[in-house]
Amino acid sequence: MRCPYCREDSDKVVDSRASVDGDAIRRRRECLACGRRFTTYERCEVIPLTVLKRSGVEEPFDRAKLARGIAQSVAGRAVASDAVERMADEIAEWAETQGPRIPSDAIGVAVLERLRPLDPVSYLRFASVYKGFDDLADFEAEVVELQKLSLQKTTAPKSPEPEPGPGDR
Ligand SMILES: [Zn+2]
Repeated sequence: MRCPYCREDSDKVVDSRASVDGDAIRRRRECLACGRRFTTYERCEVIPLTVLKRSGVEEPFDRAKLARGIAQSVAGRAVASDAVERMADEIAEWAETQGPRIPSDAIGVAVLERLRPLDPVSYLRFASVYKGFDDLADFEAEVVELQKLSLQKTTAPKSPEPEPGPGDR
């Protein structure tokens, strides 16, 4: 800590204690250059993660709300319920690293990236809400993209399909 008197950057802490309200650590320091004493306060900095919506409105990031949104998309589908919670945790953790402010679109895309391989129907449900499909054409374009992907999947394996055996008729 730079000395406020002589600007020298070398000191020793002579006393350290919690402040009266407990929110800070108060340190008494002695400058090793000029010998004068000064006080510093150390506080915990908590920057809440905020979500920047397309409308320009900011709101606090809400993991529970995210989990609800995902749960709605997978409702009635063969998706394990803990997969929703895991996905919400993963995205919340990732979002923290992107903060302190993250666009809602980025969160939507993070969900979509995870839903797509999990379940196409859930993916389309979520996409129609988050991407804000304006018309049927947008939706159809997304379906075409999905079909391309599933086509890639089925043609991906390098090893040829096993030939049907003589008994397979
Ligand atoms: Zn000094």
